Amino acid sequence: MNHRDDAAALDRDDPLRALRDQFALGRDVIYLDGNSLGVPPKAAAARAAAVIADEWGDGLIRSWNTAGWFALPKRLGNKLAPLIGAGADEVVVTDTISSNLFKLLSAALRLANERDPKRRVIVSERSNFPTDLYIAQGLIEQLDRGYELRLVDDPAELATAIDENTALAMITHVNYRTGYMHDMAAVTQLIHRAGALAVWDLAHSAGAVPVDLNGVGADYAVGCTYKYLNGGPGSPAFVWVPKRHQNAFSQPLSGWWGHKKPFEMSPSYRPDDGIGRFLCGTQPVISMALVECGLDVFLQTDMATLRRKSLALSDLFIKLVEERCGKFPLTLVTPREHGQRGSQASFEHPDGYEVMQALIARGVIGDYREPRVLRFGFTPLYTRYVDVWDAVEVLRDVLETEAWRAPEFAERGAVT
Ligand SMILES: *Cc1c(COP(=O)(O)O)cnc(C)c1O
Repeated sequence: MNHRDDAAALDRDDPLRALRDQFALGRDVIYLDGNSLGVPPKAAAARAAAVIADEWGDGLIRSWNTAGWFALPKRLGNKLAPLIGAGADEVVVTDTISSNLFKLLSAALRLANERDPKRRVIVSERSNFPTDLYIAQGLIEQLDRGYELRLVDDPAELATAIDENTALAMITHVNYRTGYMHDMAAVTQLIHRAGALAVWDLAHSAGAVPVDLNGVGADYAVGCTYKYLNGGPGSPAFVWVPKRHQNAFSQPLSGWWGHKKPFEMSPSYRPDDGIGRFLCGTQPVISMALVECGLDVFLQTDMATLRRKSLALSDLFIKLVEERCGKFPLTLVTPREHGQRGSQASFEHPDGYEVMQALIARGVIGDYREPRVLRFGFTPLYTRYVDVWDAVEVLRDVLETEAWRAPEFAERGAVT
């Protein structure tokens, strides 16, 4: 592709082009960070106003029943389920990934221990998103039963690291820095062959790539709604537990929302049947209500169509960066192979932080991840091919003029 018009022609033929209108995109911004915080669906502002004025204001406490507040975690879980290959009543929207992982890992270790008490190893990747590792470390300390976290440095090492001492493997499907995507079916099979349980983190997968949890026979999964699902900053995460594990499932955050009859006000905890036992306490209703606006957009398309465009966008970005910025020290760290790539493209640059700040100052919003990584996320619901073309042109200009050397771009904010 040698001309912006070629990108515009791809946009004209894009079967998803109408969906962009459903998002409140800022003017003069090319947003390539939907992998970190999605763009608001236009419907979200009206929904928030209605929840506050009508449901909270007029309905007051009656809204727990009349507006369906109490049912939201399960109802939204059912709406999200098809995007990840989950069945009905297998998903709840609740809490954060971190706290959901604590619940899941606790329950999974308990099940693994009942099956085979000598298994004392949790396998994960050193490159995993840190909170996943921190939660595992915290739980191991809390249990104080000799559990060990075994971290591999390369996906190829999983085959030997997962063995007869492994209780579970906690794997993030798509790596947040590099965009490397595991073959979920193959890795789940490997975990099961070793007799261990497979816990998947779908933070960078849900709404980004096709996922088939029941199809691959996974055991547990978590994910979030504020990235590709466009639920809003800090919107609640989700948990998936397949039917076969639900009633053997006991988690330590046994709060009243997970009780079978919370309004019996019984002094004894009795878990809900099924996925409801994953809930803990009162949910952030306003934030949770907005999750539905993001999910509703996905009902108008399907993951196969989204995936085709996502790969076309990241392919085009990689090709243009390599053609047009080839003389600068940029190294692709995302796999070229489609089967191993999520919905992002990451490049290392020795001054990655400064380069990203200079891009953001010009309205091209990606983000920076330690060490040296420029990360660009592609969200086919609202990203156009011309956005990719324009973003690469801005990158080329920032590198050619060395605009990134301006001292203000070296200052670090609390969030990068
Ligand atoms: C974004 C992300 C999280 C975020 O966890 P929260 O507890 O919801 O803040 C966790 N794990 C992975 C792999 C992520 O990418």
